[in-house]
Amino acid sequence: MQAHEGHYIDGAWRPAAGSGEVIEVVNPATEEVIATVPAGTAEDVDAAVAAARSAAGAWRATPRDERLAALTRLRDGIASHQDEIAATVVAELGSPLRLAQALHSTLPVAVATSVLEVLAEFPFEEKVGNSTVYYEPAGVVGAITPWNYPLHQIVAKVLPALAAGCPVVLKPAENTPLTARLFASIVHDAGLPAGTFNLVTGLGTVAGAALAEHDGVDVVSFTGSTAVGRRIGAAAGRGIKRVALELGGKSANVILPGADLTRAVKVGVGNAFLNAGQTCSAWTRMLVSDADYDQAVELAAKSAEGYVPGDPTDRSTRLGPLVSAVQRERVRAYIETGVREGARLVAGGAEAPEGLDKGYYVRPTVFADVEPGMTIAREEIFGPVLSILRYRDAEHALEIANGTDYGLSGGVWAADPAEAAAFARRMEAGQIDINGGAFNPAAPFGGYKNSGVGREMGRFGLEEFLQTQSLQF
Ligand code: NAD
Repeated sequence: MQAHEGHYIDGAWRPAAGSGEVIEVVNPATEEVIATVPAGTAEDVDAAVAAARSAAGAWRATPRDERLAALTRLRDGIASHQDEIAATVVAELGSPLRLAQALHSTLPVAVATSVLEVLAEFPFEEKVGNSTVYYEPAGVVGAITPWNYPLHQIVAKVLPALAAGCPVVLKPAENTPLTARLFASIVHDAGLPAGTFNLVTGLGTVAGAALAEHDGVDVVSFTGSTAVGRRIGAAAGRGIKRVALELGGKSANVILPGADLTRAVKVGVGNAFLNAGQTCSAWTRMLVSDADYDQAVELAAKSAEGYVPGDPTDRSTRLGPLVSAVQRERVRAYIETGVREGARLVAGGAEAPEGLDKGYYVRPTVFADVEPGMTIAREEIFGPVLSILRYRDAEHALEIANGTDYGLSGGVWAADPAEAAAFARRMEAGQIDINGGAFNPAAPFGGYKNSGVGREMGRFGLEEFLQTQSLQF
C-alpha cells in the first residue's frame, strides 16, 4: 500500500491543504487497498486555479512551434511509459492486461498525435469579408474526468486545451487517481511551464464541485454521468462559463437484413463487453429483424461464452471485474430488473461468476426478447449486459434506435454500406460505425440529446477551447 501525498500544482507536488483526508484506491480484482491519495478540498482547488491563472498569460503568448514542441515531448513521454500506464490501469480499474496494453495505454498516444497534427495546421487567424477573425484561448480550463478510460479521458481534454493555449486544472475520478498522478509526472518531465497543468485529486462532490463552480475557471470540460453533467451544466450557466459535457449513452447496433450476421453479432457483443461494458459509447442495444432474430440470439449467447470473467493480470483474460463494489451491485440489480420485467436471459445472470469469490465480477449477460420500454433497454447499465431487441422493418428499427434519451453512438450493418449509411444519417447520435468502421481520433466525438453538449477529438476538440475575436477593417 502506497500513501501518495500532495497535489500537482504550479509545477511541483505541493502538500494538500485540509486535514489530511485521503481517498483509498482499491484493486477491483483483489478488493485490496493498493494506495491512498489526498482528498482535495476547495482550498487545494483555489491554489490550482490560481496557479493556472498566473500561467495563462505566458502560455497563450507561447508561439505555436514552442507549444507544439512541449506537447510533442508530452506525447513521447506517454508513449515511453506505456508499460507503467497499462499496469496502473490494470491495478486500479481492473482492466484485463491485454486491453490495457492494446487500448488504455496506446489510444492516448494516438489521440495526442492527432492533437499535434491539428495544432500544426490549425488556422488561428482567418479573413471573413472585411474582418480578421482570431481564434484565441478561451481561458482556464477545469477538466473533470471519469474512471472508465482513465488516461484517454484525461488526454482527450488536457492535450487540446493546452494546444489551444489554455492552462488546465484536472480533477480525475476517485477510483482511478493513480493513472492521473502518473500523467502529471509525465507532464512534469516533459518540462511544461509551471501552472499550465495542475492536478487535484478528490471527491466529485467536494473538489469536483469546487472546480466546476470556481470563478477563476472559464471553461468546464466534463465527462461522466448525465446526472452529474446536469449539475455541472447548471453551475456553468450560473457562472456564464463555457461548458462541454460528454455524458452517458444507450447506443443501438442496428443489423439490417442482408448484413453479415455472424460478423455483426460477434463485433456487436465485443463492443458491448469491451472494458467490462464500462464504455459510454457501448452498443448496449442490438436491433435485429424478425427474420434474423433467433439466429442472432443464438450467435450472441455463444459469443458471450468467450468472455469468461477472470484475473485481469492474466494475459488470456478478456473480461475483468467492474471498477467497484457499487458498480457491481448496480449492474446486478439491473440484471434482476431485466428478468423481473420479462426479458429472456440467454447468457449470464445476476449471480456471481463461479470460482471468483473475490473481486467485483459480473457474468457477461445477454438478454433476448427485450422490449423498448423495459428498464434495461432505456437506462445506461455500465456493465457487461447486452439487450437484443426485435424489429419488423427499417422504420420500426429507426423508431427503436432513436427512442432513447441518449444519442452518443451506434453501429449499422448492411450488405451495402450505402444502405447502412443512409440509415445512420437518420439516427440521432454523434458517432456511428458503418459495418464495423474503426475508431478515428480525428473525428468529432460527442452526443446528441442527453449524451451531452460539445465535441472532443480532432479539430472539433480543439475548437471547444477557443473563442473568437474579430476586427473589422
Ligand atoms: P460520475 O458522473 O459519477 O463522475 C465523473 C466525474 O465527475 C468524477 O471525476 C467525479 O468525481 C466527478 N463528480 C461527481 N460528482 C460531482 C459533482 N457534484 N461536481 C463535480 N464533479 C463531480 O461518472 P462516473 O461514474 O465516474 O463515470 C461513468 C459515467 O461517465 C457513465 O455514465 C458514462 O457513460 C459516462 N462517460 C461518458 C463518456 C463520454 O465521452 N460521453 C466517456 C466516459 C464515461
